[in-house]
Amino acid sequence: MDPITELLAEVLEEIRPRDAGAPADYIPELASADPDLLAFSVVGPRGRVRSVGDDHAEFTIQSISKPFVLALALAEKGRDAVLGRVGAEPSGEPFNAISLEPVTGRPANPMINAGAIATSALIPGDDVDDRTARIVDMLSAFAGRSLWVDEAVYASESLTGERNRALAHLLKSHAVIDGPVDVAVETYFRQCSLLVTVRDLAVMAATLAFGGVNPVTGRRVVDERVARDVLSIMSSCGMYDYSGEWLLRVGLPAKSGVSGGLMAVAPSQFGVAAFSPRLDTHGNSVRAVALVEEASERFGMHLLEPH
Ligand code: GLN
Repeated sequence: MDPITELLAEVLEEIRPRDAGAPADYIPELASADPDLLAFSVVGPRGRVRSVGDDHAEFTIQSISKPFVLALALAEKGRDAVLGRVGAEPSGEPFNAISLEPVTGRPANPMINAGAIATSALIPGDDVDDRTARIVDMLSAFAGRSLWVDEAVYASESLTGERNRALAHLLKSHAVIDGPVDVAVETYFRQCSLLVTVRDLAVMAATLAFGGVNPVTGRRVVDERVARDVLSIMSSCGMYDYSGEWLLRVGLPAKSGVSGGLMAVAPSQFGVAAFSPRLDTHGNSVRAVALVEEASERFGMHLLEPH
């Protein structure tokens, strides 16, 4: 084992005994996840993927899709058009909050559900399939392989997604979304249901870390400016109402999702990802947070400390 993989394995075993939290159950299909799964992965500048634990376990990307759909919206529409529909301010509220500016109805940021639905609605396309195909292409380019939708999770989320549907109707009432509400919200549900592994997430994080170039495929996926914009918003808003404390403790732009995934970005150094299904009260994975926090400490990755 090379020294970095050894260190990952050591951190993994240190964190393994923690058993606080529970898998998300408001999307019924997520409740059946094996709570003991645990995985950790890092991708460096030459595109070498190192991973330990259950690194081939697949799970749905959920909210970690949000920064990549934001990247697509920024690439397609430009920053001003995106900011016209969704803000860049931390909401300090849970991911599913009804967090809309009073007069304009603009959601606080694209990392919470309201803002992510507004962002998905900006992706051009004739129908849900057409829009989803563009999103899948973009996320696949970030991952360096073809991703696909878990139909069972999608169906489960669509069946129980009344809160997100309500958010979409509010957005529509403020003209934050233009097209049909159903198209916006079903596209959002499909993007959340894409299957990934911890290795995919680490490659996706690394693509952001290296200015929009996937270090495994060598392909430019988005402009450097788009990657920078996405990382800026992840820094202040990526961990919901834990974003401030996360920045304090870990010091890296990051994004979590309710299936237990987490990715973090050390610009020009690493893409990092962790996975474990048990969540804390913010909806962040207990052990994934602990793994990345410990790794940031040991590798000295906090961005605000002198390097
Ligand atoms: N699909 C989930 C939802 O909309 C995503 C939430 C999350 O990962 N925090 O509720």
